[in-house]
Amino acid sequence: QQSTVVITGTSSGVGLYAAKAFAQRGWYVVMGCRDIPKTKAAAQSVSIPEDSYTVIHLDLASLESVRQFVKDFRATGRHLDALVCNAAIYMPLLKEPLRSPEGYELNVATNHLGHFLLCNLMLEDLKNSPAADKRLVILGTVTHNPDELGGKIPPRPDLGNLDGFAAGFKAPISMIDGKKFEPVKAYKDSKVCNVLTMRELHRRYHDSTGITFTSLYPGCVADTPLFRNHYPLFQKLFPLFQKHITGGYVSQELAGERVAAVVIDPEYKQSGAYWSWGNRQKKEGKSFVQKVSPQARDDEKAQKMWDLSEKLVGIG
Ligand code: NDP
Repeated sequence: QQSTVVITGTSSGVGLYAAKAFAQRGWYVVMGCRDIPKTKAAAQSVSIPEDSYTVIHLDLASLESVRQFVKDFRATGRHLDALVCNAAIYMPLLKEPLRSPEGYELNVATNHLGHFLLCNLMLEDLKNSPAADKRLVILGTVTHNPDELGGKIPPRPDLGNLDGFAAGFKAPISMIDGKKFEPVKAYKDSKVCNVLTMRELHRRYHDSTGITFTSLYPGCVADTPLFRNHYPLFQKLFPLFQKHITGGYVSQELAGERVAAVVIDPEYKQSGAYWSWGNRQKKEGKSFVQKVSPQARDDEKAQKMWDLSEKLVGIG
């Protein structure tokens, strides 16, 4: 059987171009997206052949939708050889928190809790695949890491003691640390959880399943719609800043190819690794395993995050 990858959020940006790269490399792509017509139009616009993919409805903010997605995937009868958690929202200008159907703050509900449940449920599908090489990849970002230049701009991510998670994460609570709502920090916190999830998956399941768990920061893909909720002037200047000043800019095509490479190529078969690229903007820029932030490499925090997330998504 043709290798199959499930990837979330392919209606634009990194996910769309990753889907294209997978199709070009002969993989079958199952896209988990909340807007099916938009996703199909996007796939067509970048010429992904129609017989190389299918779109299944998935709204990561809704735990019920995540469960339904897994059922719908299973009904296709395909083996799952790789899972890529890519979708995310970033809403830096929010004054008040938005809520998921379960009542959780929406950034963390979408970027972390939805993917956390998806990974836990689909671990079973990965285990059941007869493929010799199975991988689960979660998109990270430089902004999770205050030790790096790109992560130094405040507010910094900080999960604290996860008091907000422990207290149930519903109104009036909106942040993982239980402190005041801060939308940019909520996004960064969710990405710290993504890295912690990857590392904890590795610790718990790599030896027993042989599955390779990794994350990557493909570079600053400054012109994806991720920044659509930012000021228009920011949207105009940010790509220029990244291209000419930090040198961190990468195209959506290159970011998509990097995601596919981390899933397919033998050199990325190193479970627990977080991949980055030197000379990010250059096609031949070399990849390397990068140290993640102090919070993201804190094993005690990872376990606590895991236990509390299990409770919040109802699998604990
Ligand atoms: P985009 O905004 O272009 O893509 C995000 C995707 O996620 C869209 O397809 C969007 O779908 C989907 N999505 C959002 N909310 C949901 C939901 N509730 N359920 C299902 N799908 C949803 O952003 P990028 O391509 O830039 O970002 C992709 C990943 O890359 C993210 O994880 C991001 O953190 C990471 N990343 C991005 C960087 C960058 O510079 N752009 C840098 C480092 C990491 P819809 O069309 O329905 O909104």
